[in-house]
Amino acid sequence: MHDINLSLQKTPVLKQSGFTESQAFLESRRCLACPGRYCAASCPIHTPVTEFIAKIREKDYDGALCLIKENNCMPQVTCRVCAQERQCEKNCTRGIKGEPVAIGALERFAVENGVSQKPISLEQSKGRVAILGSGPAGLSCAYSLTIKGYKVDIFEARDYPGGVLAWGIPDFILPKESLDSFLSELDDLGVTIHCGKKISGDQNLHNLFSQGFSAIFVATGSGTEKRLDLPGAESVFTSSEFLETANINPGILQGKFKSIAVIGGGDTAVDAARAALRIGAEKVTLIYRRSRLEMGASRKEIEMAEEEGVDFKFLALPQRILPEGVKCAAMRLTEASFPGGRRNTEAILGEDFVVEAEAVVSALGFAPSEFEGLDVDAKGYLKVGKRFETRIKGVFAGGDAAGSAKSIAAALQSGKLAADCIIDLLKRLSTE
Ligand code: SF4
Repeated sequence: MHDINLSLQKTPVLKQSGFTESQAFLESRRCLACPGRYCAASCPIHTPVTEFIAKIREKDYDGALCLIKENNCMPQVTCRVCAQERQCEKNCTRGIKGEPVAIGALERFAVENGVSQKPISLEQSKGRVAILGSGPAGLSCAYSLTIKGYKVDIFEARDYPGGVLAWGIPDFILPKESLDSFLSELDDLGVTIHCGKKISGDQNLHNLFSQGFSAIFVATGSGTEKRLDLPGAESVFTSSEFLETANINPGILQGKFKSIAVIGGGDTAVDAARAALRIGAEKVTLIYRRSRLEMGASRKEIEMAEEEGVDFKFLALPQRILPEGVKCAAMRLTEASFPGGRRNTEAILGEDFVVEAEAVVSALGFAPSEFEGLDVDAKGYLKVGKRFETRIKGVFAGGDAAGSAKSIAAALQSGKLAADCIIDLLKRLSTE
């Protein structure tokens, strides 16, 4: 077990932003303060968008940040990692006839220019809770419990905390300082994170109860990645192997491959391609079986990858991994299986080609991390009830592990709501 001293990781608050003060002011004036609050309604953590933008317009940046923090314990992270174009900005009224209000950039401006009051550290005397997993759901649950007077210990299987925020998101998107500043807040509040401590299975859950924990929250995420099933694919990195090494031990990869091919069409594939450029690859090709229009990745990320020099090879279906690269079949788009669905593809006979690459990374999607001792559904997600409860009394589960989170913000919300359910149970138990 490697307990870490988070106080050693304190870093100065970042002072860099996409917006200057005058740009932020002008952008804030574009908000129409719609009575319907369509933006906030599509935010998984219900950020009071209209209200915090109004504070920026008044140049009250502290007030803006305080409003954001009411529902969101780590805005320094969400302002960097949320795909606002698919959430709040997607439903912004301004977007109907033009550009939506740049809500994400305004949130980041508030984070970098506002100061919020630290939560008061309460005496943690109301009970002890163990949290398994230190990704966004686990961290958010820990924060919500701690500020209400519960003592929280987090057990993390990896040697470092943060889950997907640490291993899966490159630091050109989420600088390490952003996560570290939140971990420092938790440390100040008295949360202990035990790294290198994987807990799974019935017996180990019961051992935690024997050690004095009154409740357990399982937030082990979805870190099991689908592997490419093609001849020659044994040498292919999964995106998690590649991104974790590039994030945590970049020296291992730096300058090692002149050309890298990435297979996939989602955000993770684009992140891996952009990370590949940063570890010194001169030629990075992203291979995707459909067209640009069908890619799941955010438009913003795709555009940035293109600007940085990633070459996109669309309508290409990998067939075999060769020593010199990826043999692909050329594809054409056909009709979608149902109205509004993504278009299907078919191979164009005799039009195979090879994308040359010294290394190949596959980004084909994730499944929940394995966890023994609790029931799972057909897809491997932990089975939970409406209040995050599992079949074992006192054991709750949430975030990606329980299939309830499809984004970082949704995972934060899941952890926060689960904390409320845990508190309800502990209150009931204390009066029985
Ligand atoms: S939908 Fe857009 S314009 Fe309307 S309140 Fe939200 S941010 Fe402002």
